[in-house]
Amino acid sequence: VAERPYGVLELELPLRHRDGHRCTVQLTVTNLLDNPAVGGLVLNTRDISERRQLEDQLSHQAFHDNLTALANRALFKDRVEHALARTKRQTPSVAVLFLDLDGFKEVNDSLGHAAGDRLLIQVGQRLVSCVRPSDTVARFGGDEFAVLVEDASDEIDVTQVADRVLEGLRRPFLVNGRELHVRGSMGIARMDSDVEGADQLLRNADLAMYRAKAAGQGGYERYDPGMHTELVQRVQLEADLRKALDEGGLFLHYQPTIDLTSSQITGAEALARWDHPVRGEVPPTEFIPLAEASGLIRPLGAWVLREACRQAAEWQRVARRDKPLTLNINLSGRQLQFPEVVEDVARALRDSGLPPESLVLEMTESVLMDDSETVLDILRQLKQLGPRLAIDDFGTGYSSLSYLHRFPVDILKIDRSFVERLARNFDNAELAWTVVRLGQSLQLQTVAEGVEDSSQFLALRRMGCDIGQGYYFGRPMDGEAMERLLSDELTAAAQTAATTD
Ligand code: C2E
Ligand code: MG
Ligand code: MG
Repeated sequence: VAERPYGVLELELPLRHRDGHRCTVQLTVTNLLDNPAVGGLVLNTRDISERRQLEDQLSHQAFHDNLTALANRALFKDRVEHALARTKRQTPSVAVLFLDLDGFKEVNDSLGHAAGDRLLIQVGQRLVSCVRPSDTVARFGGDEFAVLVEDASDEIDVTQVADRVLEGLRRPFLVNGRELHVRGSMGIARMDSDVEGADQLLRNADLAMYRAKAAGQGGYERYDPGMHTELVQRVQLEADLRKALDEGGLFLHYQPTIDLTSSQITGAEALARWDHPVRGEVPPTEFIPLAEASGLIRPLGAWVLREACRQAAEWQRVARRDKPLTLNINLSGRQLQFPEVVEDVARALRDSGLPPESLVLEMTESVLMDDSETVLDILRQLKQLGPRLAIDDFGTGYSSLSYLHRFPVDILKIDRSFVERLARNFDNAELAWTVVRLGQSLQLQTVAEGVEDSSQFLALRRMGCDIGQGYYFGRPMDGEAMERLLSDELTAAAQTAATTD
């Protein structure tokens, strides 16, 4: 180039500076031999070290995770694509592992983000140490990591790598002088003839990871095609739920609660119902978790609060009873993680005019096992609005009862399984009795769930349990039926049982 008249040649050269440091220079050679004023080659030299460094840094940043310096999603995907291209004609030998830490949020919440970051860095290092140098470890953001295992022949099963990683995580991490234990849930997807490319392989690993997460802490799942069908159905059901919420496909049933001494109705528990246009009635045990996972729980929960409070306030107005009715509403764990629930409860009370003392908010033990300050703070704020708090399904969750002292709980709802054991044989009463006595000693009101026959009712009454709820007194029913029941004051069943005692 420089040989042609007016040609320009650019070169980049590493040079050593006079002070000894190395730098990169750009050398431009311009052929001005034919230019009568110059008659020679003109050489310009520029130090471009800084620019080069910046470029390197930028391209590194584009492909690496800032925090851990591991590959990021873009680079990982690129590596997967290359690995797939390489193994195209051989037996498929590429596998992807997705790892999501369990309990990382708690670390962040309790020790702060800086500690969380330090933990993530260490987890990254630990992962690298558990795989071979030829495998790629990436962080996708948050507490999500991925490993590309390049020659996972059938013999050296990928599960061995998975085991090694999970085993590696089992050793505690040292952050700020504290030993932290984290677990991970892992999804494994292998390249096989059904998989079309990198995107699909990553999606499969992701799906398997979600399954592992749902199955419990600290394990792994391998992808199988059934997971995909299930996902499609789930996504469909979620869309249907969203629609039902918008278009009034949800409604509430009410189940009466009975004062076991006087046999009078004290109020009702509101239970959400969904009449699906194709599938018929979908049970709340199915659609509540779905709403929790999809973020629909907030609008759904707010709707339940609004509608139930409105209904109960209306009963209160027409029934004119000496004691105000109580209305029990279930709050799911996920709802109680967001401070907005306080606003939703306050608004439902305000708009309906229901006296706050009438409202009981039910939550399961698992909610209270969440040690985070956030939940405790939300419960305190809820409490300040006036409602009482009840522990639902009490006795099924955890052995530690220490949380009862920390949380402002008023009511224990004894799980149905204890009441079930009361049937016929009074010898089985011991457990139920223990729970009732526990409630009494903590000065909490006790409510027995799932009372199905008169012998259970009588046994519970003898134990001094305060309130009962169950098919024996009344199944969950629509608002109109509940209203009729309230105007009758007593359920016929409770009345007969009371007189035959
Ligand atoms: P839960 O709060 O423990 O509600 C009691 C469940 O036991 C209800 O099931 C009720 O129909 C059933 N039940 C009542 N009496 C008896 C009985 O004598 N025998 C038997 N075998 N069962 C009885 P349901 O309505 O299917 O609700 C299931 C769960 O779904 C509820 O358990 C609650 O945790 C949740 N849920 C229902 N509605 C809502 C809601 O609006 N929000 C939230 N977050 N969860 C809800
Ligand atoms: Mg309940
Ligand atoms: Mg319950």
